Amino acid sequence: MPYRPDPKTTATPGVCPRCDAPVLQQREGLPYTVTADAARLTPDAAARLVEPNRLAWCLREAKWSPPRLVEVLPGFHGLACGRAHVIDHRCPAGTPAVRGALW
Ligand SMILES: [Zn+2]
Ligand SMILES: [Zn+2]
Repeated sequence: MPYRPDPKTTATPGVCPRCDAPVLQQREGLPYTVTADAARLTPDAAARLVEPNRLAWCLREAKWSPPRLVEVLPGFHGLACGRAHVIDHRCPAGTPAVRGALW
C-alpha cells in the first residue's frame, strides 16, 4: 500500500509560547498532543534524557513527506535506530508561568 502522508499527523515547527524555544508539535496520531524540542538528538542522547514524564520521540523525516513523530517503544525501539530522536519540551527552570493559553 503506498504511503500517503496524513496532514493531521504532521509535526509542525513552532516556538514554545512560554520560553520561545523552537519546538515541534503534533496533535494527531499520538495518545496526546506532543510538544517536543526541535533539536535533533541521537537515540542514545534522547534515551538518557527520558524521565517518567518526559518521553523521547522518533522523528520520521523524508524528502517527500512532512516530519512526523512516532512513539519510541522501549525494548522494541533500539538505540540502533538510524533516525533522529527528539525529547518532550520542557521550559528552562525559572520560566514565568503561562502567558496566554498554550497553543
Ligand atoms: Zn527511532
Ligand atoms: Zn518552553
